[in-house]
Amino acid sequence: QEDDFKKVISHAKEYGYVFQSSEIYDGLSAVYDYGQNGAELKKNIREYWWRAMVQLNDNIVGIDSAIFMHPTIWKASGHVDAFNDPLIDNKDSKKRYRADVLIEDYCAKIEAKIDKEVAKAAKRFGDAFNKEEFLATNPRVVGYQEKINTILSRMAKSLEEEDLADVKALIEELEIACPLSGSKNWTDVKQFNLMFGTKLGASADSAMDLYLRPETAQGIFVNFSNVQKTGRMKIPFGIAQTGKAFRNEIVARQFIFRMREFEQMEMQFFIKPGTQKEWYEHWKETRLRWHLSLGMGEDNYRFHDHEKLAHYADAAADIEFKFPFGFKELEGIHSRTDFDLSSHEEFSGKKLQYFDHEENKSYVPYVLETSIGLDRMFLAVFSNSLKEEELENGTIRTVLKLPAVLAPTKAAVLPLLKKDGLPELAHEIVNELKWDYNVIYDEKDAVGRRYRRQDANGTPFCITVDHQSLEDNTVTIRHRDTMEQQRVSVDKVKEIIASEVDM
Ligand code: ATP
Repeated sequence: QEDDFKKVISHAKEYGYVFQSSEIYDGLSAVYDYGQNGAELKKNIREYWWRAMVQLNDNIVGIDSAIFMHPTIWKASGHVDAFNDPLIDNKDSKKRYRADVLIEDYCAKIEAKIDKEVAKAAKRFGDAFNKEEFLATNPRVVGYQEKINTILSRMAKSLEEEDLADVKALIEELEIACPLSGSKNWTDVKQFNLMFGTKLGASADSAMDLYLRPETAQGIFVNFSNVQKTGRMKIPFGIAQTGKAFRNEIVARQFIFRMREFEQMEMQFFIKPGTQKEWYEHWKETRLRWHLSLGMGEDNYRFHDHEKLAHYADAAADIEFKFPFGFKELEGIHSRTDFDLSSHEEFSGKKLQYFDHEENKSYVPYVLETSIGLDRMFLAVFSNSLKEEELENGTIRTVLKLPAVLAPTKAAVLPLLKKDGLPELAHEIVNELKWDYNVIYDEKDAVGRRYRRQDANGTPFCITVDHQSLEDNTVTIRHRDTMEQQRVSVDKVKEIIASEVDM
């Protein structure tokens, strides 16, 4: 698993998808840059989301609010007081951990033991092996699972009650039971606020302390009335936006899974109080369907319903994805009640209400939120697409099977030889296609090597121009995933590409 993840990271660099930020200065921890291919993939994911959320829904509109916001907003939202992570330092290794993530890592070690038992039993029983039954009845496995549940619920309770001494005690116990860090010398657990501070204004006296926004959602809440009135929006309706958010994460690791500067794609859906249960179910289902539409495998997703709820929520679930390091949160669906709008009413002194003509009364709407990290989605797509396949001749093919709608380059046009007018015809095809699609021209190396290069790059189609093309105006179109080749008329090329890559 670790090796797979290393391959993902090095492939992302080698093919111009993701670079460490400030690399020539030895980098900046948990900050990344997107290269020529990464920027395209990211843009395509953003567009795929925007189309599904804004363009296809009559009652959802999109905005683009500023990163700098009035500092009181973060008091109203609860971020000044409650946007903390519990941190703990190990005095021996001088390593800093997020206490809850560390505890989850101990649980993952126990989970690995379950996986081992399953693998052993599967081998022993062969075809007769029933995994579900085994998980439910094998005493050792059931014991491990109970242990994990006990640990997680004790952690949730201690964090909820701010009993940080017990969080420390739990870590100390776990370190003895299933060593991870190899040392026992821990500091106390402290709460650490994740917001980055900055200053607005030039002179020291008049400068105003600001925060870089840790989420895009508040830009939507504070514009609720502006959008509702100018767009004459009727409840239920949604406001969506994508944009940068900043968090001073304690443990920055796992590549672009947890970054200090990242992008979110959020939608706040404003509803009549009392209808939140239905809308919660609706958005859970709708968002899962969006993920499944990319064809990355149903088994790679699962819901995780929260038992411990954030201060603003009355129900919350994550859509988890199977990353190379296991199932982790990809998107959150939160039923936020009227917490945000009411709180902004209180702190700003302005009414944030909706007049419901059917009910003939005003109220503060309830909110359902869907919130997904664009970079995390990028990692999900990228890591799931990277495959190594053994071909019939025994060689290994590295192929990035990105969903065609998201691929940075849709087609590469390749003249078989660099002479006899083949490059000219290939350029003509590029010039025709580039009005609609990102396409490239490539004439370097033997055609087989060029195919492999495009496979690794994630390009769904290669279009090869040969001598026959000059005679009958046909080309070969090669499909990345199946490696099948078809002879088609040049006029048909655009249609074939469109059938797979159009959103
Ligand atoms: P986590 O528990 O992983 O820290 P969270 O529960 O704090 O995440 P939310 O505040 O619900 O996350 O943010 C919504 C989404 O934003 C997450 O589902 C995730 O996809 C993304 N996200 C949050 N923090 C980061 C980060 N540091 N780097 C990249 N994406 C992030």
